Amino acid sequence: MRTYTPFVSGEFQQWTGETIPSVNPATGQEWSLIARCNAADADAAIRDADRAFRQGQWAALSAEGRADKLDALADVLEERWEELVEPEIMDNGKRITEVRGQFSGLHSWYRHFAAEARKLAPVSQNNSIPGVTSVGHLMPYGVVVAITPWNSPLMILAWKLAPALAAGNTVVVKPSEMASASTLEFARLAHEAGFPPGALNVLTGFGHEVGEALVRHPLTRKVTFTGSDMGGRKVANAASDNVVPTTLELGGKSPQVVFDDCDLDVSVNGVLSGIFLSNGQTCVAGSRLIVQASIKDKLISRLLERARPLKPGDPLDPSTQIAPLANEPHLRKVTAMIEQAKLDGARCLLDGTETVKGLTGYYIGPTIFDQVSQDMEIWREEVFGPVLCVATFESEDEAIALANDSDYGLAAGIWSTDTAKAARVADALCSGTVYINHYRSVDPGSPIGGFKQSGYGRELGPDAISDFLQVKSVWTGSSPVPDPFP
Ligand code: NAD
Repeated sequence: MRTYTPFVSGEFQQWTGETIPSVNPATGQEWSLIARCNAADADAAIRDADRAFRQGQWAALSAEGRADKLDALADVLEERWEELVEPEIMDNGKRITEVRGQFSGLHSWYRHFAAEARKLAPVSQNNSIPGVTSVGHLMPYGVVVAITPWNSPLMILAWKLAPALAAGNTVVVKPSEMASASTLEFARLAHEAGFPPGALNVLTGFGHEVGEALVRHPLTRKVTFTGSDMGGRKVANAASDNVVPTTLELGGKSPQVVFDDCDLDVSVNGVLSGIFLSNGQTCVAGSRLIVQASIKDKLISRLLERARPLKPGDPLDPSTQIAPLANEPHLRKVTAMIEQAKLDGARCLLDGTETVKGLTGYYIGPTIFDQVSQDMEIWREEVFGPVLCVATFESEDEAIALANDSDYGLAAGIWSTDTAKAARVADALCSGTVYINHYRSVDPGSPIGGFKQSGYGRELGPDAISDFLQVKSVWTGSSPVPDPFP
């Protein structure tokens, strides 16, 4: 069985320490081992990244030089992204069609931020003091720690790594202990693309061990985290003790608000893709369907008709429609939440724990609950699985109140042909992203991030590179300094 070892100083380290097995969720079989790094490994990696930031090949590069490196990486990714597909699927069980969709475009994030690096320039400042000028120099922080989850490791990494490197930082990545292989394969490609040693390092292991040690390290200067709200709180606390700025991309309980004037075919596709793509294991999963009472029966029967026959199977088979959940603890969590919803009195219209009976692997099929009340766990908590719960409304105000009835605020969908109404509702929703007659797109031009407990800071969008830069104001005097004690 292959052992994946940490990538530090531009090479894969020899590893004699403890390992963590990685399990293929489609079979329940161990397929590889990953290094269980500890605080001493974190110290060595951060020191190496700090050295690379201050001296050596990476530190010597201009913004143009960094952009060239990112473009070289994009070239390699464009040509060889297929090499990354299988390791990721073996780890997290994502469907091959979805992984291919993500990875065939992976290079574009790096190209985008190469172009952003080329635009970096000092910013002249207005000041009213005679005889001096001041200019804002945009400075990288130093060592950035990037912590990623298991659901889309390489795409989420791109949103952190590309701007962090473009800005001139060095980066230590800590992928999820549940899905580290593709990140290490990616590091191999980055190395082959000519990335200087120390610019990109990858340490694997548990969050509370190596992850926390990275965040608390005295040479860490910035943390960017994507994961659960519980993990995010711990990271934010540790970063706060260390006085290190943090960006948090956390969970969601996103509403899909469907009005009776919607285009039903479009809405059905939107709601289905919102919750059942990636088996609901996406942060923007549209898990709360808030539908106008007059069209509820029609919409639900269309959703059931489409969701019931979806075919579970091997994630490596392109004809598979429902892949497994990513790991066994997660399967247990989602199963328990489905059982709790039944105990709480929600009516299960489609039970994904039944439809996959007999399959080996961590499968749960599409699940739909009706008669869900707002105090139920299934309404309030993120499942991160293929579970849709339904509530109805009569008026626009009621729809808005239901949609905003969440501690989260990551994404929301609105389905209506009344453009004025859709714009009004979009304005009223407490959510970092609102999609109207559309769902789940992401693009470098548009920021993503959460309101409320879904996190703070933004990734992507026009200011993404600024998240990895700090301003140094440089003042220059051109007239004699007067005697302060005449
Ligand atoms: P998680 O919080 O369990 O783990 C995420 C990462 O944090 C892992 O690498 C883990 O090892 C690390 N970690 C955990 N505790 C840590 C600690 N104390 N110190 C340092 N690192 C620590 O999340 P997960 O289960 O891997 O991912 C699923 C979650 O991620 C869901 O809640 C989902 O909504 C969220 N997510 C959010 C977005 C977004 O953009 N907002 C995108 C994808 C996933």
